[in-house]
Amino acid sequence: KYTPQQEKLFEINEQAMHLFKTILFSGEGVKAIEYLQTRNIAKSEIEYWDIGFASKNIKLYDKLIAKGYQQKELLAAELITIKDGKIYDYFFDRIVFPIKNEDGKVIGFSARTLQDITPKYVNSRETIVFKKSELAYNINNVLKIINMKKELIVLEGFMDVIALKRIGIDHAIALMGTSLSEFHLRLFKQLKVTLKLFLDGDDPGIQATIKIAKKLFQKNIKTLIVNNETKNDPDELIDQGKQELVKELIDKAIHPIKFVIEKLYEKVDPTNPDSLKAYLNETFSFMQMSKDLIVNETFLNELARRTEIDLEIIKKYYNEFTTSHH
Ligand code: ATP
Ligand code: MN
Ligand code: MN
Ligand code: MN
Repeated sequence: KYTPQQEKLFEINEQAMHLFKTILFSGEGVKAIEYLQTRNIAKSEIEYWDIGFASKNIKLYDKLIAKGYQQKELLAAELITIKDGKIYDYFFDRIVFPIKNEDGKVIGFSARTLQDITPKYVNSRETIVFKKSELAYNINNVLKIINMKKELIVLEGFMDVIALKRIGIDHAIALMGTSLSEFHLRLFKQLKVTLKLFLDGDDPGIQATIKIAKKLFQKNIKTLIVNNETKNDPDELIDQGKQELVKELIDKAIHPIKFVIEKLYEKVDPTNPDSLKAYLNETFSFMQMSKDLIVNETFLNELARRTEIDLEIIKKYYNEFTTSHH
């Protein structure tokens, strides 16, 4: 399944992962451990997720060379950079989270600052095994249990995956951002379970939810949307002790069309017909993707209620819309 070059990188990354973990538990990792405590990440979770620390003082380069790896292999793994003839570790002074593929192979890392400097996260550069559009944090664990589950929860960040696991929800992956790639679509198609999209409650999260919902809807992937109206992300909610709310939000995930109807209406000026029309056009373009008569009937009713426009008028306008946009 993998080339010898790919296998080599998996091996180096795995070694790096262990070294980062050893550094975390050494004197060099004290600040990092303290930081993880402020995030409520326990020792058992550090072990489970293989979290480590890249220190300024300990050179990963030296450790890996001592283990017999060659400089060019470390370059291929993007664990080091060469600048003005000098060799530097790519990751330093950051908490390091290994990212694994569906087979549990370590493909790369994402590293977080302790001091909230920008960028908050530094990811591995692309390698022959690390493709930034092909990440699904926790997919290796999810694949082992997904047959016993009826759903897959899709989150933005791996901190959210870690937090959900802490409250007993283990069938979640993170996109590692807000974009959905062809890789994700292929993966979801294969899994044949209902997706529950649970992104951050901030504005970028909501915008991304609408965009992603559209893509999934187009591809006929069964999806429900977790209507997170809190402005927070799942990890923050769990941090605030709101684990019951998180579970309830997941249980009560809503149809993507309902989500779009609700979210887009928040920006409508109901006294302005142009604003109402723009709103209807946008929701219609979404509904149009569904050939399901009952689904459309349900949501046309919903639109009539919400806009207080007569149902017959809404239906007529929808028919006009569908004949002019196909
Ligand atoms: P934290 O709780 O530590 O602040 P988060 O998971 O809430 O982290 P977000 O800002 O919501 O982080 O971003 C979600 C995901 O997007 C992260 O898990 C990370 O994979 C990715 N991401 C965020 N910022 C960056 C960045 N600067 N470079 C690369 N990836 C990033
Ligand atoms: Mn976010
Ligand atoms: Mn977040
Ligand atoms: Mn967060």
